[in-house]
Amino acid sequence: MSLTSILPAEAILEPKGQYLADLMGRGVQGSADAVVMPSTTEEVAAVMRWCYENEVPLTARGGGTGLAGGSIPVSGGVVIGFERLNRVRQFDPLLWRMHVEAGVTTGDVHRLARESGLRFPPDPGAAETSQIGGNIACNAGGPHAFKYGVTGHWVTGIEAVIPPGEIVTIGGPLRKDVAGYDLKSLLVGSEGTLGLVTAAWLRLTPAPELELPVIAFYRDADAGVSAIERVLASGVVPAAIEYVDGVMLSYSGEAYPFGLPADAGFMVITEADGAAAEARRIAGELREALADDAVAVHAPQEPAEVADLWRWRAGAAFAIIAQRGGAYSEDIAVPLDRLRDVAHETLAIGERHDVAALSFGHAGDGNIHSTFLFSPDDPDEIERADAACHELFDLALRLGGTVSGEHGIGWLKRGQLERQLGETGYDLHLRVKQAFDPKNLLNPGKKR
Ligand SMILES: Cc1cc2nc3c(=O)[nH]c(=O)nc-3n(C[C@H](O)[C@H](O)[C@H](O)COP(=O)(O)OP(=O)(O)OC[C@H]3O[C@@H](n4cnc5c(N)ncnc54)[C@H](O)[C@@H]3O)c2cc1C
Repeated sequence: MSLTSILPAEAILEPKGQYLADLMGRGVQGSADAVVMPSTTEEVAAVMRWCYENEVPLTARGGGTGLAGGSIPVSGGVVIGFERLNRVRQFDPLLWRMHVEAGVTTGDVHRLARESGLRFPPDPGAAETSQIGGNIACNAGGPHAFKYGVTGHWVTGIEAVIPPGEIVTIGGPLRKDVAGYDLKSLLVGSEGTLGLVTAAWLRLTPAPELELPVIAFYRDADAGVSAIERVLASGVVPAAIEYVDGVMLSYSGEAYPFGLPADAGFMVITEADGAAAEARRIAGELREALADDAVAVHAPQEPAEVADLWRWRAGAAFAIIAQRGGAYSEDIAVPLDRLRDVAHETLAIGERHDVAALSFGHAGDGNIHSTFLFSPDDPDEIERADAACHELFDLALRLGGTVSGEHGIGWLKRGQLERQLGETGYDLHLRVKQAFDPKNLLNPGKKR
């Protein structure tokens, strides 16, 4: 029996093009024997049954925006895309919940929620392309995870297909559920290695009436990190605490919508939100906590200005790539008292490997995108940038952190997990994989 006997002809594509790499896969090119685009959960189950019977690797692909190379088919076999599994099955705005299929984009979930005065808070930066299934598979975060938590926090139920091709539903439109082991959380963040997410129940929350960023600039990282520590110690709860270091400001500052102050060597972005009076009160307290030592404080008020700020912040990530054509942007996370070390050490690591280095990221969660630049035409520089990443992973572990706070292990961080978990922890991890996928056909080689 071939794939053509279990899927309609239009659901089977030529194995080429975008489905063999991801958007930022560091040039890694996969290969596949077929690309399939099922439209129903039953078709997903049929594909997995076929792969299991024929011992063919199966790689899930959402929007391909992952930053760990997770959706690249490195072992050949079948790539399964979810863009046709894109129905909103149910939306109950009055009960703050939504049931969507895996291929619905993050942006569409945001829009649908917003139209009813609600919010789906996870906001990873490529929302127009990434899919809910991919967000769940990576447990994606974003700037507002500081107050609202990462994707898993907003998922109350998952429909998935697990080997050898069975449909399972875990949880549902429930806000609480402690029966049994937490299988939902095992699937969240499993990067397509345990099962294929076909649909999810999402929890929503009323959208805040007002969002008020308070942005402060400092001469250097020490002053900036001290300001972040003051914000944390103040007891107010901002929706986001981000930082952008001086090197990144030098690449992207010109486009900053409110004019980059002279002497700006480090930027802290916070945001207050809530009912109007509450957001204004929090913004006032943030301003107070950030003011010491600041060379300037900006507090845009208009919704259009707020949108400009976050658009600039998203675009800044691309401005750094434009510097040399390539960038390794990692996502280590460390305890909050080690932020200062990451800001300094990232630059020192870059110097040791003779590559341009910078850092930015979700400071409130200790989750920093330390970044090393390279020219794609310079193999030696690529190697040095890669070596810099490895030294960065050593740093994260030395500081009691993790090699991945939000992108996952995927293919690009292979080998790091064992170092982080240790022998016993890693063995437990492998035994979970074995329990779900005894033939090791789901995204083989990833998340290990
Ligand atoms: C400019 C930019 C900014 C970003 N900012 C952030 C950020 O702030 N925070 C953050 O966390 N991430 C960020 N990302 C990374 C990325 O957008 C997220 O990881 C996102 O969740 C990936 O979703 P995707 O649909 O593109 O998944 P893909 O890249 O297609 O896949 C990612 C992994 O999930 C698996 N997978 C995909 N769909 C399924 C499914 N239905 N079932 C099972 N497994 C599946 C794949 O096999 C792969 O291992 C950013 C990326 C870009 C390009």
